[in-house]
Amino acid sequence: MVAFDCAELMEAVGGKLLWGQTEKAFCGITTDSRKVEKDNLFIPLIGEKFDGHDYIEQCFDAGAAICLTQNPIPERKDRSAILVSDTSKALRDIATWHRNKYNIPVIGITGSVGKTSTKDMVACVLSKSYEVLKTQGNFNNEIGLPLTLLNLEARHQAAVIEMGMSGFGEISRLTAAAQPEVAVITNIGVSHIEKLGSQQGILAAKLEILEGLKQWGLVVLNGDDPLLKALSGKLGFRTVFYGMEAGLDYCAQDYRSLGESGTEFSIVIEGSKYQVKVPVPGIHNVYNALAAIAVGLEMKIPMNAIVEGIAQFSPGNMRQNIIGHRGLKIINDTYNASPQSMQAAISVLEELSAKTRGIAVLGDMLEMGAVSSEQHYSVGNFIKDKKISILITVGNDSGNILQAVADSGNSAISLRHFEDNSHALDYLKSIVKQGDYILIKGSRGMKMEQIAEGLLTLQ
Ligand code: ATP
Ligand code: MG
Repeated sequence: MVAFDCAELMEAVGGKLLWGQTEKAFCGITTDSRKVEKDNLFIPLIGEKFDGHDYIEQCFDAGAAICLTQNPIPERKDRSAILVSDTSKALRDIATWHRNKYNIPVIGITGSVGKTSTKDMVACVLSKSYEVLKTQGNFNNEIGLPLTLLNLEARHQAAVIEMGMSGFGEISRLTAAAQPEVAVITNIGVSHIEKLGSQQGILAAKLEILEGLKQWGLVVLNGDDPLLKALSGKLGFRTVFYGMEAGLDYCAQDYRSLGESGTEFSIVIEGSKYQVKVPVPGIHNVYNALAAIAVGLEMKIPMNAIVEGIAQFSPGNMRQNIIGHRGLKIINDTYNASPQSMQAAISVLEELSAKTRGIAVLGDMLEMGAVSSEQHYSVGNFIKDKKISILITVGNDSGNILQAVADSGNSAISLRHFEDNSHALDYLKSIVKQGDYILIKGSRGMKMEQIAEGLLTLQ
């Protein structure tokens, strides 16, 4: 557990001792007042709903040794307080200070979709040769990333760090803290386009990752993404590309679906052909595996060990989890949704339900701003040619998905729209039958897991 004393802490954050002793030490850092333990450093963050400063007293009562604060606070016996101008920046500064103690490679992963999956696959591969620290779950923002770096310990030999964002400047701050040696960009989609204006804006925001990349660093890009491919030779860093297109540095061939158990492809590395099994369905996971292969090989892991590492991957909670219940196969992909990941999920549904019925239950994709209707419509345009049986949309803008299929005149897909999860669930319960594959997906705010959970109560 990370431990400093006040003097080191002040140096790391550029803060001033408000009161207490400079020798006062702490052990462990928390930003969550409910999780404070004895001798912790408490960092009060200011969020949309809460201000951590309101909980400082309570944290001292719970045993915190030191706290940071943006405002003067009453003195407490045997405790210390350090004044900083911005507690959120201070958290990043401490993380940077801590990260700099360890001379290990950090692999930074960003992109519109597939960050968490790629991060986990890269970690599976690197774990074959290194003791790896990785971002837990989706802890990829300006709070999660510093807290992840603070878990670095002397035993770690590499770190795989996810970097997420919703606007300009965020990746810039994250990469400054993590200082990666390898930067991976999975793809450039349309998530967060509301804030970033255009796909070029999204690209620019993702490329901020290069600002913190070590001078000798490596860039790993999806070469089948036109915006990323166009960067070839332009970045000022050694860059490698992966994808399906012939001629890329890491190129998958002979992609083959293995149904629920995943996919298989081959890849030629230095004249030898390897067979790679990815234990999760969908061609998008082949891309995530390719990123992991590229990072693994660049980090000198033998290809046989890489193949083993990829085979050990398992998807995170609510991400493409296939659950069997009373003869139904529920694909719970309710963690989040964007146009790209909707398409990926629909392709998986089509692949798995080739011999039976495929039912897609799709909720709104949120934060799409002015292009929301058009983006939902484009998902419908993608679905109209797919061999699925039933499309159920839930919410508001998702009606545009349905509309696109209706406009196409494809009557092989039956269509229903509901305004809320509970009506969609009631309908679904009345029509499902043995053998059906049911994909459930929508943005986090749509809480579509309610539908997945509801189906699991079917007797
Ligand atoms: P978030 O922005 O929520 O952190 P993320 O970028 O970490 O998302 P994942 O959690 O890995 O992405 O995957 C999100 C969704 O996208 C899942 O539904 C998954 O099946 C799908 N997906 C994963 N990888 C890709 C990919 N390379 N291309 C398209 N879709 C993908
Ligand atoms: Mg993620």
